[in-house]
Amino acid sequence: MPQLDTLFQRLRQRLPGLELRKDEPLSRYTTFRVGGPAALMALPATEEEVRAVLQEASSLDIHPFFLGNGSNLLVSDRGYPGLMIKLSGALDSCRCVEKRIIAGGGMLLSRLSSAALEHGLSGLEFASGIPGTLGGGICMNAGAYGGELCQVVASVRVMDGQGNAEDLPREACDFGYRHSAFLDGQRLVLSAVLELTPGDPQAIRRQMEELGRRRREKQPLEYPSAGSTFKRPPGHYAAALIDQCGLKGLTVGGAQVSEKHAGFVINRGGATCADIHTLMERVQGEVFRQTGVMLEPEVRYLGD
Ligand SMILES: Cc1cc2nc3c(=O)[nH]c(=O)nc-3n(C[C@H](O)[C@H](O)[C@H](O)COP(=O)(O)OP(=O)(O)OC[C@H]3O[C@@H](n4cnc5c(N)ncnc54)[C@H](O)[C@@H]3O)c2cc1C
Repeated sequence: MPQLDTLFQRLRQRLPGLELRKDEPLSRYTTFRVGGPAALMALPATEEEVRAVLQEASSLDIHPFFLGNGSNLLVSDRGYPGLMIKLSGALDSCRCVEKRIIAGGGMLLSRLSSAALEHGLSGLEFASGIPGTLGGGICMNAGAYGGELCQVVASVRVMDGQGNAEDLPREACDFGYRHSAFLDGQRLVLSAVLELTPGDPQAIRRQMEELGRRRREKQPLEYPSAGSTFKRPPGHYAAALIDQCGLKGLTVGGAQVSEKHAGFVINRGGATCADIHTLMERVQGEVFRQTGVMLEPEVRYLGD
């Protein structure tokens, strides 16, 4: 894409310190370990860098994709032919002010939960085993074991495609089950203020360990995946429906419906995006045929 070359040159000139990578294999950035190259990846470390990248991209009519930890993404084997923005540096850090943690969108939820524990703050225990970033977690309203990010988010700082930043209170984020106002990809989550509750560090640690133990026991964490493949359909559990339809172990190429947890599609080794996508479609088709329930993917597709 010639505009991407122009963007690369302009960003090199305007921001000599900005980390830019060309043809970066996305299999290294997704927990499925699948995906072809991203034509251009920018790793801004400050809000000013993000603004500059967005403004330059917008002036060339390039619409970027915001990448978190790639733990809910299925990326095409052909990759992504455009610009990806992945937060780094100061946008991958946090500070604590009394009961509040102000954290960058690029920070991993596991590190954030540990920071909360260090400060004796409770409310993020549920998130310690979710392998995403705060930005991706807010976008998806990630949740587990009765907790959801929207329960602790006080406000979110976002930036639109033209580089305008804004602080949104929780009420303006349209949070729902695996839903937020940011799913349309128009605004980047730069950072968020999390409101937590003072708690006993020992109890917080015990809870995190207990939830970690439950995950290891139930989930096929030994294989690459993107967690729950499908959303929970109203009145049902996706994993139970898939299991009931006899689909555990169903395999396409290197992709398989986990024998351990039917809600997970795993990469048994060498799976392509096409394998995973075909398997997901087969599962949807068979579950619909047998139960009348149409499963909706929780995993997000990127590319062709
Ligand atoms: C083993 C395993 C277990 C999991 N368990 C859970 C679980 O218990 N609960 C749960 O909810 N999920 C779970 N997941 C799924 C996943 O971790 C979450 O959806 C997570 O919130 C995704 O975050 P991410 O940073 O990886 O986002 P990505 O996968 O990189 O992106 C997901 C979406 O968020 C957007 N996005 C990313 N960063 C930003 C940003 N800064 N600003 C705006 N948009 C952004 C992307 O554009 C994309 O649309 C699991 C996944 C795995 C592999």
